[in-house]
Amino acid sequence: MHTPIKLTTNIADVTGVGPLHAESFRRLGIRCVADLIRHLPLRYEQELPEQSIAEASACIGRSGPEANISLRGEIATVRWIPARRRRVEASLEDPTGTVRLTWFNSPWLRDRLHPGLSVRVWGRAKWHGRLLQMVNPRWETLRAGEPHVPRPQRLRPIYPAGDEISSVRIEQALEIVRDAALGQLDDHLHQDYRRRRELPTLAEAYRMLHRPVDADEPPAGRRRLAFDELLLLQLGVMLKRRHRRNTLTAPALKHDEAIDAHITARFGFRLTGSQRAVIDEIAADLKATTPMNRLLQGDVGAGKTVVALYGMLMAVASGHQAALMAPTELLAEQHFASISGMLAGGRVSIELLTGSPTPAQRRGILTRLASGEIDILVGTHALLTANVRFASLAVTVIDEQHRFGVHQRAAMRTKGRDTDVVPHTLVMTATPIPRTLSLTVFGDLDISTIRELPPGRSPIQTRLLRQAQADEVYTEVQRRLAGGEQAYIVVPVIDESDLGLKDVNSHLDSLKRGLLHGLRLAALHGRLDRTRREEVMGLFRAGRIDALISTTVIEVGVDVPNASVMVIEHAERFGLAQLHQLRGRIGRATRRSLCLLLSDPATPEAQLRLEAITSTTDGFEIAERDLAIRGPGEVFGARQSGLAPFRVADLPRDLELLRLARRDAKAWIQDNPTLGGERDRLLRKRLLKAHGKSLGLGDVA
Ligand code: ADP
Ligand code: MG
Repeated sequence: MHTPIKLTTNIADVTGVGPLHAESFRRLGIRCVADLIRHLPLRYEQELPEQSIAEASACIGRSGPEANISLRGEIATVRWIPARRRRVEASLEDPTGTVRLTWFNSPWLRDRLHPGLSVRVWGRAKWHGRLLQMVNPRWETLRAGEPHVPRPQRLRPIYPAGDEISSVRIEQALEIVRDAALGQLDDHLHQDYRRRRELPTLAEAYRMLHRPVDADEPPAGRRRLAFDELLLLQLGVMLKRRHRRNTLTAPALKHDEAIDAHITARFGFRLTGSQRAVIDEIAADLKATTPMNRLLQGDVGAGKTVVALYGMLMAVASGHQAALMAPTELLAEQHFASISGMLAGGRVSIELLTGSPTPAQRRGILTRLASGEIDILVGTHALLTANVRFASLAVTVIDEQHRFGVHQRAAMRTKGRDTDVVPHTLVMTATPIPRTLSLTVFGDLDISTIRELPPGRSPIQTRLLRQAQADEVYTEVQRRLAGGEQAYIVVPVIDESDLGLKDVNSHLDSLKRGLLHGLRLAALHGRLDRTRREEVMGLFRAGRIDALISTTVIEVGVDVPNASVMVIEHAERFGLAQLHQLRGRIGRATRRSLCLLLSDPATPEAQLRLEAITSTTDGFEIAERDLAIRGPGEVFGARQSGLAPFRVADLPRDLELLRLARRDAKAWIQDNPTLGGERDRLLRKRLLKAHGKSLGLGDVA
C-alpha cells in the first residue's frame, strides 16, 4: 500500500521504516514525519570519490596510517564472531579485489547483511597483514544492478543516531519523505519580511540542512531556524508585556520630597549614587498605574534590600501594603530582623510569616493582614498559599529571583482582592544575569542594576588550598579568631555519610577538640528549628560565637559585618554562583577579609570554577564565566525559568541574531499588537504552541 506522505504521517508508515524500526525512531523522539524533518544533523562529512578496491589498495601504504575511502561492491561472506570482542565480519568484493569489513558492538548487523547484497561502504581503512580492513564503516544498500555513474560528491549529513538505528538509515528515511513533507510546510514569515532579512523559507532552510548542495547552506539554514526560535520567544515576551501594561493596573503611589526625606531618614547611612539612581527608576514606575515588573540586580552586599525597602515604604506612605518574599526561612528571618531594626520606633507595622508559626499565630497574622493593620509582611513561599489575603497589596518584592519560577511570580500578582488590580513587582537577584540571557528569559522584566558597593568595603582575598593543608588553614583561622574576628566554616552536608565529606557535627567536634580548641563554635543548618536558628544567629551577630560551622543555609542574606573569615570545605562540590554568594557573606567591613577554599583536584569543570572564583570578586564577570562553563540551559534552565531551552539557537553565540529578533519583535508588536489578522495567523499559532503555556499567554490570546 502506498499512502501519500503528510507531516503527520506516522513514522511506521514511511516506506523502508516499517513497524520494526519505528520503535528505534521513537526512541530518538521521532514519531511522525514532522519530527523526522526536525531531526537535524550534528555535522557533515564530505563524501569521497568512489574507488575500486584495487585503486584503494594501491593508495593506502602498507604500513601507513589509516585513510578514508569509499567503495562499492557485493557482500561475499558474513560471520558473527562471539569472541572476547564480539563482532560481525563480512567480506566485500568487487571485480578488482576483496576487503574485510568489521563491526564491533553491532550484533543486529548479522540479520541485515547477507551474501549477494550490493552496498556502498565508506570510512577508514588500513592494512592488516595482507588484508585491507575497514572497522565500523558506514554503509548503505544499493538497488540491485544500480549502475555506477559518477556523481558529484556531496556533503552527507551525520544525524544523532541510536544503537540500532544508524545515521544512514535516518538519512534514507528523510530521502523518502523530504520533498513531499517540505512541500507542505507553510511559512509563518511572510515573503517581504524574509527578503528584507535575507532568510530562506522554512522549507528551504530544512532542505539546506538535510540536503545541502554546498558547505554554505547548512549555516544559512541553521540561521533561519535559530532566528525563528529567538523571534517567537521575543514576540511572546512582548505580547505578555503589552498585555500587562494595557489591561492590568496597579495602585499609583505618591512620591515627593517629603516622602523621600522621611524614608531615607530611616537608613543609617547615605545611599550610594547607584542606589539613588535605581531608586529613582523604581519610584518613577511606582507612581504610574502600569504594574511595575522590574528586576533589581546587584552584586552581593551591594545594598539591594534598602532599595527594595524604599519601594515598600512608598506603598505604606500611600496607605497600601507591601510584601517581601524570600526563598528560605533563614533569609526571611534575616530580612525581618534587619528591616524591623531600621523601622524601630516608627509607626510602620511589620510581620513575619514563614512555614512554622502556630495555627493561632497564623490566624492572627492573616486577620490583621486582611484588615490592613499589617503594613509589611515578610515571609517565604508560605505567602503564596491561597488564604493569604491582603487588604491592599501595592508592592511585592521577591528576593533571589532564580529560585522562583515565572509561575510563582504570576501567583503573587493575584494576591490582591481585586484581580484586575495587581501589585507592582520587584525581583531582587544577587546572581547577576548575564546580559545575553537577560534579553531572553527575563525579557519581560525591566532591569535596574546597582553597580557600586557601599563605601568602606575592603577587597576579599581568596586562596585555594589542598585538603592536606587544612592544618595550615585552621591555624590561620585560629589566629584571626583569637584577634576578635568571626568566621563561617562551610561544609557540604549536615549528616555523616559514606561520601567521605565533612559534615556539620563531626567537623564541629573535631575542630572543638583540635585546632579551634577553646573558641566558641556553633552549628547552623536548615534542619534546626527556628527558635534555635534565631538564637544562634543572634549570638553570632552579638559576637558571642566566634565561628559558625554551617551548610549553605548562610548562602544568601546573612549579614554580619564583623565576620571576615570564611573556610569552604570540599569547595569543588559547590557551583560557581553559590561560591560567590557564600563568599559574599564576608568582606562587609573595612577589615581585610579572607576566604580559604579547601579542595583537591576534581573534574576539569570544577577546576574552571575554582579558578574563576579565585581570580575575581566581580559578580558580573562570574556570571559570564558561569554561563561559559555551564551553558544557558544549566544556568537558567527550563526548570527554573519555565522556558524550554532552544533547540537550534545557541547563546551567547547567536547574540547578534537575538538582538535582531528583539528589534523586529518590538516593531512587529507595535504594528500588530495582538498578532491578529490573516497575515500573522500562522505566526501567532506557532507562537502560542511554543510559548503559550510557559509564558502564561493563556489570558493574552
Ligand atoms: P544585598 O542584599 O545587595 O546583598 P544588603 O542590602 O543586604 O545587600 O546590604 C548589605 C549591607 O550593606 C547591609 O548591612 C546594609 O545595611 C549595608 N548598606 C546598604 N547600603 C549601604 C550604604 N549606602 N552605605 C553603607 N552601608 C550600606
Ligand atoms: Mg540581600
